[in-house]
Amino acid sequence: MTNPLFDKLFGKHAGKDTTFLMLSCGAVFSHDAFLKMAARFANTIRHLGLQAGDRLALQVDKSPEALAVYAACVQSGVVFLPLNTGYTADEIDYFVDNAGAKLVLCSPDKYDALKPVTDRHSAGLETMGGEGGGSFTEIAQSQPDNFETVERNGDDLAAFLYTSGTTGRSKGAMLTQDNLLSNALTLVDYWQFTSKDVLLHALPIFHTHGLFVACNVTLAAGGSMIFLPKFDIDQIIENLPRSTSMMGVPTFYTRLLDDERFTKDRVSHMRLFVSGSAPLLADTHIQFEARTGYRILERYGMTETNMNTSNPYEGERRAGTVGFPLPNVELKVCHPESGEELPTGEIGVIEVRGPNVFKGYWQMPEKTKEELRDNGFFITGDLGHVDEDGYVSIVGRNKDLIISGGYNIYPKEIELILDDQDYVLESAVIGVPHADFGESVLAVLVPQKGRQLDLSAIEENMRKSLARFKQPKRYEIIEELPRNTMGKVQKNILRDRYTSA
Ligand code: ATP
Ligand code: MG
Repeated sequence: MTNPLFDKLFGKHAGKDTTFLMLSCGAVFSHDAFLKMAARFANTIRHLGLQAGDRLALQVDKSPEALAVYAACVQSGVVFLPLNTGYTADEIDYFVDNAGAKLVLCSPDKYDALKPVTDRHSAGLETMGGEGGGSFTEIAQSQPDNFETVERNGDDLAAFLYTSGTTGRSKGAMLTQDNLLSNALTLVDYWQFTSKDVLLHALPIFHTHGLFVACNVTLAAGGSMIFLPKFDIDQIIENLPRSTSMMGVPTFYTRLLDDERFTKDRVSHMRLFVSGSAPLLADTHIQFEARTGYRILERYGMTETNMNTSNPYEGERRAGTVGFPLPNVELKVCHPESGEELPTGEIGVIEVRGPNVFKGYWQMPEKTKEELRDNGFFITGDLGHVDEDGYVSIVGRNKDLIISGGYNIYPKEIELILDDQDYVLESAVIGVPHADFGESVLAVLVPQKGRQLDLSAIEENMRKSLARFKQPKRYEIIEELPRNTMGKVQKNILRDRYTSA
């Protein structure tokens, strides 16, 4: 019997008392203890009536138990569907309905709100708390701690992972065993993970970054993780000296740099800091190196494809770039309308093909057809370019591109200059309809706390720095940018707000 994803990530650790998870309370799970828990859960899932191919949705706090549900799903062939803990019952309604989930696991405090949702869609509902308790774990206690792994092949679905919903409604990406496994094995090799690694894990595990990149890579390498419930600066500072590696979103790194306890001495045991999910400012990269002597390794990926590119482990990690296409991943930059490949250096839409690319969006054949070409290339929707040395840079999303008077305007270029202005904390540049030009540039500025912005000085500086067609025609000052639950700026909300105003 084989089940490639289970065998290569989990099964091979059976019977080993090596450390897998270390919690902030001091508790430790060995690989074997984790696998026994997963086997109990696999039996529980079956006891609750699920068969291979059924979907299990989970919206619970991060814990070893939550991660063991993932292992249990892989072992029993059930499709794993993790959901952002920030979603409301109304939002969960869409996911349960869209995915046809047969069982939902939620935290105990959400039970009453979710019961009408699961009743409406004839799904089961059980609970799992952050400390591991709850009705699901209770049932599991009387289940055997061994489970005969269900046979699967590489093309079978392992997970539905919903996109972050930054540009519109979240879409369920169908990921196969091979999609996940090929990427995990590539990254172990590329980032040189081994069984000696101790990964400081403070990301959520409902998203591709914290779940598939961080956990799958550690599992494949046989290493361990310091498994923190969330990013808590004190806990990070405390645990850095015993970690070898960390994966984070850019705000992890800016927050660390803001803390004076974050010193070179504290990270002397570390070998790798990885950043992704959103652009890492070149400035952060440079400050980080000045403080620690380490260059953050930035990589680029997405829900539909796992990781596509990465800066090298050895060799130059270039600030402001996302590095090279990973082995076996083909990447090209294409004209947004014609789809024709563009010459080196030109900006266009990034397309990728490889064993990492998903099967399509669940029950969205039209959307799948729009984004996944017949020849296997996935149209990422991100704009970027590749330089002479092969480094890929992302300049923003195609949907955020502004076309004014026939000229392409890349918001990021303007935002970088705005962010440098006195007392500007952050900015977002969008296109709004304009009678003559089609679109015109509108800048949304967020001042630093307690500071007033001098708009005429800013306008004057923009006139000096930018060609006329790129200069914002209108400025709006707001307290904070709208962000989704992954912390990504939602420009569609800004466009709606300022178009209808
Ligand atoms: P939706 O597809 O629902 O609108 P989303 O695209 O934000 O949401 P994710 O799959 O979580 O959902 O995010 C992938 C996107 O994150 C990429 O398409 C890219 O725009 C961005 N991204 C990831 N890594 C980087 C990076 N290193 N630099 C810049 N952008 C990045
Ligand atoms: Mg997307």
